[in-house]
Parts: sequence; structure tokens; C-alpha cells
Amino acid sequence: MEPRGTKRGAGKIEAAEPHNKLPRPAPSLPTDPALYSGSFPFYRRPSQLGCFSLDTQRQYHGDARALRYYSPPPANGQGPNFDLRDGYPDRYQPRDEEVQERLDHLLRWLLEHRGQLEGGPGWLAGAIVTWRGHLTKLLTTPYERQEGWQLAASRFQGTLYLSEVETLAAQAQRLARPPLLRELMYMGYKFEQYMCADKPGGSPDPSGEVNTNMAFCSVLRSRLGNHPLLFSGEVDCTDPQAPSSQPPTCYVELKTSKEMHSPGQWRSFYRHKLLKWWAQSFLLGVPNVVAGFRNPEGFICSLKTFPTMQMFEHVRNDRDGWNPSVCMNFCAAFLSFAQNTVVQDDPRLVHLFSWEPGRPVTVSVYQDAPHAFLPTWYVDAMTQDLSLPPKTPSPKD
Ligand code: GDP
Ligand code: MG
Repeated sequence: MEPRGTKRGAGKIEAAEPHNKLPRPAPSLPTDPALYSGSFPFYRRPSQLGCFSLDTQRQYHGDARALRYYSPPPANGQGPNFDLRDGYPDRYQPRDEEVQERLDHLLRWLLEHRGQLEGGPGWLAGAIVTWRGHLTKLLTTPYERQEGWQLAASRFQGTLYLSEVETLAAQAQRLARPPLLRELMYMGYKFEQYMCADKPGGSPDPSGEVNTNMAFCSVLRSRLGNHPLLFSGEVDCTDPQAPSSQPPTCYVELKTSKEMHSPGQWRSFYRHKLLKWWAQSFLLGVPNVVAGFRNPEGFICSLKTFPTMQMFEHVRNDRDGWNPSVCMNFCAAFLSFAQNTVVQDDPRLVHLFSWEPGRPVTVSVYQDAPHAFLPTWYVDAMTQDLSLPPKTPSPKD
């Protein structure tokens, strides 16, 4: 990592201390789990506002065309035997990770639906807009010992937008990703192909290509404590046989993990992997995570469904386990911290929240490129709205 306080980022703003005040320490937010162990905060049942799809070319479509349908192998058979390495690398079209999309696709959805948002006029102005994946990182922060994060924040027309910035360490790791790790990433997507059909009631087609440009994203409304949230998350598939067909309760998250043999391996899985699975699925209201366990040869030979609301039971009596209250209380505290820190309404002003394991969250301030992330097309279209006369309903509406 870059040593602190040595480089001056382009456009970084130096805050001058007013002469009539004592110097105030730079604000920061601690992340120790012990500080967040109160009761579970209010979290509104996430409701889906809409969705969008990204196609094989990563082009946006305001519909559900990329949604796939849960199609597990028949339960009466001998169990699965999925070769996750099949098709690698010749039938693999990986997404270009150099392209930093930031909030762009979600902002396009928001721009096209801003007139029909529920919650009444002004709801958006009080909300936080972000990706589900960014919130997942916040939820797991009190327990994370490996990877830090950076979140850029801008306030615009009242709304607080949060967009992740890849850390230098994450960028270095991505560029030097070992071949085995690349193949492991492919295997996760290949599992989805074995478990999903393109049509309800259809069968999976593992002969096709794995193209990770394709994505179905659900857009949801929720609230954590007093923080209204509008966020979007990628959904693996919907279960046509789910007890309720209402999204997000019909959605299924698919995961792969190494086959486990000893109680110690299960314990470690519950402490680390299940935390990430829980945080991701709980936020979006996905009720079940279906795990495929792979053997050393890369074959899935068993499946297990983990209901999201039962995951905590596996660590409830574990002194080294995780606690959902800590995750949610920390996230709520961070959102309050961000709301109180980002005071100025300016789409070109960025507060960068940075965190490294073992340290508190710190803040630095930037103007314009490279950190400003709200695109001109979005800012301009939203600004136009304000100068237009209010729309009078016509008989045709
Ligand atoms: P997740 O929970 O981490 O999978 O992330 P989200 O569900 O919030 O996905 C938000 C958007 O980011 C979607 O368009 C995804 O296709 C995309 N996305 C998911 N994982 C990654 C990643 O590792 N890198 C980048 N750049 N984008 C990703
Ligand atoms: Mg998945």
C-alpha cells in the first residue's frame, strides 16, 4: 500500500485550520466488533423497484432478459457430477475488468425511473444510492482481516451516492492474479451454467460459452436505521418453484466451495465464507444460497442449501464467530458517519473513505477527476429537471 501522507493526490483539497479554533483531529470511524454489539438495528424488508440486464457485450437493457431460472439436477438421481473446468479457457468470455463502470448502470436505471419512485416526493433526496456489493463490504468490515476498501461519496440534490474505488493493493492483486485463481473464478460461473436454464422449466446447457459480461440486476428499496437505501445487486437466478414468486424472495444465490472433510474445515467455513454469503444475500433479501462443493479435481459432487436466515446459527455459540448485529450496526454507523461528513451538495466533490484492516476508517477530500464519479449525462439530466416547470397531468397519463 501507498504510505500515508507522502503523496498528494491530484486535486486533493487541503483543509486550512481556522485561526480562531483549536485544531480538530481528522474525523475517523473505528471498526472494532466490540463497539457495535448492540441489538439488531431496523432493516426494512427489501422490496424490488425494478431491474435491468447487461448483455454479452455489457450493454444495458431496461428489462429482465438476462434473468436465468433455477434448474437443479433431479433429486432422485445419483447426485451431481459437474466438471467445472470444462470449457476453460476456450469457451470463456471474461468481462474486461479494466473498465471501471462505477455506478453508471444503476444511474441509468434511476434516471429512467426517477419519476415513478415510491416513497413520495423527496424520497430520493434523503436516500443513499449504491451497489449491494459495496454494502456487503461494509457489513463484513468489523471481521475482515485481509482486504481494505475505498468508497467515494458525493452528495447531489440531497442524495448521497457511494461508489467503490479499487485500492492499489486490489489492483496489484488483480493484475498479478495467479492462473489457478483465474480458473477458480471461471469455475464459479460454470457452476451457475450447470444450475440455470434460460427459460422457466428449461434445462441447463453446459455446452455453451460462459460470458461474464451478462448480468441480471435487481434494484431495491430498503432502510437501515434511519437511512433510506436504493441499491442494486446482481442476482444469479430465480426459482420458478419458489413458495412465493415475489422478488426478491424467489431469487437464489449460487456459490461453490471446497469439499470439507473435518469438523475444523466446517468451522472455518462457517466463520469466514458463510459471513460473506450471509451479508450479500441478507441485504438483498435472497432467502437461500445453494452451495456446490467441489473435489480436488474440480467436480461438483454434492449440493447443499443454506437458508440465509439460518446461517448465523452455525456461529451463534462460537467465540470466534460473527454476529449479524455487529455487521448491521457498523454499516449504520458508517452511513451516519458518511452523511455527517459529506455536507456540501456538489457532484464534483468527493469524500474518499478509506479503510485498511486493523485501522479506523479515514476520510480525504478531492475535487473533479479522477475521483468524481457522477457522470455528466446524469448530473445534466437531473439538473434539467429542476429548471423545468412541474409536469401537469394530462388526460392521457
Ligand atoms: P456483488 O454483490 O459483489 O456481486 O456485487 P453487486 O451484486 O452489487 O454487483 C454490482 C455490479 O458490479 C454488477 O453490475 C456486477 O456485474 C458488477 N460486479 C460484480 N462483481 C464485480 C467485480 O468483482 N468487479 C467489478 N468491477 N464489477 C463487479
Ligand atoms: Mg453467485
